[in-house]
Amino acid sequence: MHSSQSARYTKQDVGRRLLRTQDPSDSNLPLADPSKRGSIANDTLLDEYEAIQDRQRESILKPERVDKQSRIIWEHLIPIIGLHLLIPLAFLPYVFSWWGVLAIPALNYIFGSLGISAGYHRMLTHQGFKCPKWFERTLTTLGVCSFQDSPARWVLVHRVHHQHSDHREDPHTPMVHGLWAHVGWLFIENRALTTAEAYDRYVRDILKDPYYMWLQRNMNWVWVYLGHTIAFYGLGFLIGWMWTGTVAAGAQMGLQWFLFGAVYRTLWTWHTTWAINSATHMWGYRNYETRENSRNSWIFGILGYGEGWHNNHHADPRSASLGHRWWEIDMTFWWLLAFEKIGLVSELSRPNKSVLERCDIRNSP
Ligand SMILES: [Zn+2]
Ligand SMILES: [Zn+2]
Repeated sequence: MHSSQSARYTKQDVGRRLLRTQDPSDSNLPLADPSKRGSIANDTLLDEYEAIQDRQRESILKPERVDKQSRIIWEHLIPIIGLHLLIPLAFLPYVFSWWGVLAIPALNYIFGSLGISAGYHRMLTHQGFKCPKWFERTLTTLGVCSFQDSPARWVLVHRVHHQHSDHREDPHTPMVHGLWAHVGWLFIENRALTTAEAYDRYVRDILKDPYYMWLQRNMNWVWVYLGHTIAFYGLGFLIGWMWTGTVAAGAQMGLQWFLFGAVYRTLWTWHTTWAINSATHMWGYRNYETRENSRNSWIFGILGYGEGWHNNHHADPRSASLGHRWWEIDMTFWWLLAFEKIGLVSELSRPNKSVLERCDIRNSP
């Protein structure tokens, strides 16, 4: 892992990245040149480069408080395996439906894009826009219905990710292992993230809201998720029954709505979200020299409704718009633009040009 990591960057890259991101106003500092050992300035850069390499070596370990005392998180492991085990049912003629297949990305554009990307991520974590409380809670509830943990927990983990990206205390860096970053980290407790101090430090603002506090308490958010899957079944059942007049057809459509509308859509949203933690910290191109290995990915820019422009996001986390080049389609931002137009969303933050110019790869010497 480490050797492939080093191969990805030259010494100059790493030295430059370090300088740029530690103090962006120093962007004109000379680059480290390994062939010119001897000059004090150059040696300082090389030493800094070696320090970063040491950090990279260190960061291939799991976070410090993922250790033998860490418990297995059964409440993650069981539903994640359980929902995947329901996939083969889709191929039964009784269940399969092309409408169901189409419903997965369509509903993901509501639950995944509005709930997770706009709600949990850009709004709650990064405060990229403002909206009325009822609307904020609606977006958050759509996020809860994507079964990706409570809002407070999700935000906590993601804020820690931004603070320690691709370093040892990053909860899910692929520098440990690609599979660890994708899903493995969800199965073993990181005791640094479950303390009252962690909640107090990272998500005090979220837990101030009594609704988010209620969701957090006794894992009430899980009941909201389960309730919404039953609602999918019930709605499908009613429509099927009214359409054909038979209870049997109602039961069949109810099952289809439950599986495609809730279960498979949840699986789809899981993997596209998880890929942002794994794939877009490994593969893709960079617009900006940021402090971690974040990348922009075409595939997850589309499938993740904008979230795949992850290098852009790390360069300017506050911006609610993740597509910074004209071709970088950000479908979640389309929602936000529409909401802004009708006055539902305000203070919608756009890419900050002066911040971004300093780390723009096109301005590299
Ligand atoms: Zn990241
Ligand atoms: Zn973020």
